[in-house]
Amino acid sequence: MSEKLITIKNLNKRYNIGTDREVVAVDNINLEIDKGDIYGIMGLSGAGKSTLIRLLNRLEEPTSGEIFVRHQIVPKKNKKNKENENITEETFENKNILEFKPAQLRQYRKKTGMIFQHFNLLNSRDVAGNVAFPLEISGWKKKDIAKRVDELLEIVGLLDKKNSYPEQLSGGQKQRVAIARALANNPQILLSDEATSALDPRTTNSILELLKDINKKFGITIILITHQMEVIRKVCNKATIMSEGKIIEEGETKEIFLNPKSDLAKEFVANIPHDEFRSDEELLKRSKNTETLALKLKLTEDQVNRAFVTEIIKKFDVEINILGGFIDKVSNIIVGNLLIEIMTNKEIGEEILAWLKENKVELEVL
Ligand code: ADP
Repeated sequence: MSEKLITIKNLNKRYNIGTDREVVAVDNINLEIDKGDIYGIMGLSGAGKSTLIRLLNRLEEPTSGEIFVRHQIVPKKNKKNKENENITEETFENKNILEFKPAQLRQYRKKTGMIFQHFNLLNSRDVAGNVAFPLEISGWKKKDIAKRVDELLEIVGLLDKKNSYPEQLSGGQKQRVAIARALANNPQILLSDEATSALDPRTTNSILELLKDINKKFGITIILITHQMEVIRKVCNKATIMSEGKIIEEGETKEIFLNPKSDLAKEFVANIPHDEFRSDEELLKRSKNTETLALKLKLTEDQVNRAFVTEIIKKFDVEINILGGFIDKVSNIIVGNLLIEIMTNKEIGEEILAWLKENKVELEVL
């Protein structure tokens, strides 16, 4: 059973511009995020993504609404202990973070790491100094800091750059330093604000892989905002699409890719860069002149490995053209869209449709 980590209820954020105008940046959002999710928030520029993520660690205060987070209460006997001592009796409760007292807010922020598009490193400090920064603020001892910094740099694969300065690093390396810094206090949540938007595609992939690793190894819930559907496809198990401050689509990534409901989601999915993928319309033009049944098959993980096309050819003695489609991995789950054209008459066509239905293949007749 998945465990709820964050519950957002009727969240609103309006900004006043001048005296008589306001922008509704976040418009009555309701959302649930489970522990262990890599949750993607996707939308065009101005959709309200940054505002939403900044509300989650109270860098912004909402106009109204509630944000409940499963929050760790430090047992009383440990209260005076240093942060780096193990807390054995962890207890958690669901708390509205908007009602936190200053000490609770500090503790919550410590357990909520954040990474940014432009890395936000301190240029006057070397890599080790940047990663040490949050630990210094938390009052760790020097000797413990040195050990923890090494541990963190090992996780992000940058131990050899320990004494380099940010200006000597590539974009991907800078983001790795920022990730190490964000992990310093063992957060339960990692917020990522367009963390790969300033990086080239290859570096983007390596950073996304690192985020996936961190999520798996340490069970850290990651909430990431992006304007790239590609990022959602690669790492997120769940996602939401925002437009004009509202959620217009939400669910498992696999479901959004197989069955996008809103026009915007359909557009995002169709425009995802893919070598073999051409638009349905373009492909259909090529088949307009024959008596055919054109189908878009939506294959799930279990189905992509089955040779459906061969099976249909054998079973119904028909000719099939594969017009295109893609089979791909969506956050480690294989899904596929297959566009086929079957040369047949109406009767056999109906038999084929019935057979596909029996085999639980989702499809669209084009
Ligand atoms: P996104 O991250 O999806 O690009 P934002 O959350 O940055 O969207 O912005 C949502 C809307 O809120 C935009 O119309 C933006 O101009 C407005 N906005 C964001 N921050 C402020 C601010 N501090 N003051 C006024 N308007 C803002």
